[in-house]
Amino acid sequence: MKVLVVGETVNGEVQNITYELVSCAKKLGDYVTLIMSDADVSSIDGRVIKVNAGEPNPVYYKIVERVIELEKPDLIVFGNTSIGVDLSSQLSTNFPIATRVYNVKSSKNLKEVEVRSMAYGGKVVVVLKLRLPAIVVINAGSYDAGEGMGKASVEELELKYFDIDDVEFLRYIKPEVEDVDISKADVVVSVGRGIGDEANIELAEKLANLLDGVVAGSRPIVDQGWLPKTRQVGKSGKTVTGKLYIALGISGATEHTEGIKAKNVIAVNTDKSAPIFRISRFGAIADVTELLPVLIDKIREIREK
Ligand SMILES: Cc1cc2nc3c(=O)[nH]c(=O)nc-3n(C[C@H](O)[C@H](O)[C@H](O)COP(=O)(O)OP(=O)(O)OC[C@H]3O[C@@H](n4cnc5c(N)ncnc54)[C@H](O)[C@@H]3O)c2cc1C
Repeated sequence: MKVLVVGETVNGEVQNITYELVSCAKKLGDYVTLIMSDADVSSIDGRVIKVNAGEPNPVYYKIVERVIELEKPDLIVFGNTSIGVDLSSQLSTNFPIATRVYNVKSSKNLKEVEVRSMAYGGKVVVVLKLRLPAIVVINAGSYDAGEGMGKASVEELELKYFDIDDVEFLRYIKPEVEDVDISKADVVVSVGRGIGDEANIELAEKLANLLDGVVAGSRPIVDQGWLPKTRQVGKSGKTVTGKLYIALGISGATEHTEGIKAKNVIAVNTDKSAPIFRISRFGAIADVTELLPVLIDKIREIREK
């Protein structure tokens, strides 16, 4: 199988997602990575086609189309990022497409791929078979970026593509820098789906303030928009390394616990068999919404003495 990785650069820097996509492609067969700026691509493993179209350029999709014609890939992989979603959707009329994918497997007959994606905030795994040639749009954090790094063999490609007048690049707005970096905090109070309601996050914030900590969460909490992505702990989020991690209403799925490298874990969960207890030093089988107000009052009382 031949895979075309549509790589991404921002301000001349190869983005991590590019290495993750290369890591995915490597597992499937032959691959080539397309980069459409003049970024330094030397650390991308394998063959790289470089078309210096400037960054960003509204005609990127025309370049991808042209490279597809030249390379004839069986599978085209994009990142599930604003760039990847933008580009893949423009090409999706010509190919079957699967989005939010976290795993891709080739079939023995090489005529299709089996892809897995998540629905309903990670509760349901969707398994799809896509007839090749196809497009898959892969979530960040699904593949190990390290495996996509190595030595590039770069081919510069001059392409004639048409500029279009109706889209104009005005300026690049950098995402706001988050106020806290959960990966560096000593105390992290983390909420999961068991918190029940967005309004209850305030309880976690109160507890975090009392302990000089920060609030983080599991992926479903971030997916629902209750906390920003920068606060997500786990495989596709951040790794916390501090002294204490308090897991409130978090089941302890491996994708979450992968991000917990704190020295001590305390878990609160109504389910005594929740996997989070296996990695916890202390645990309480309790309803977080009942326990938190009592705990907050108690800590306040002790602090005020
Ligand atoms: C490729 C991939 C990447 C992923 N990356 C991440 C990631 O980075 N981070 C991440 O977190 N997840 C990630 N996930 C999702 C992960 O698999 C789980 O779905 C997710 O971690 C579950 O979140 P949760 O524990 O909040 O929810 P649930 O699994 O629904 O658990 C909720 C828990 O709350 C308990 N509970 C319910 N009510 C109460 C209450 N009142 N009081 C106390 N406890 C209560 C329940 O017993 C349950 O244990 C990823 C999944 C995939 C496939």
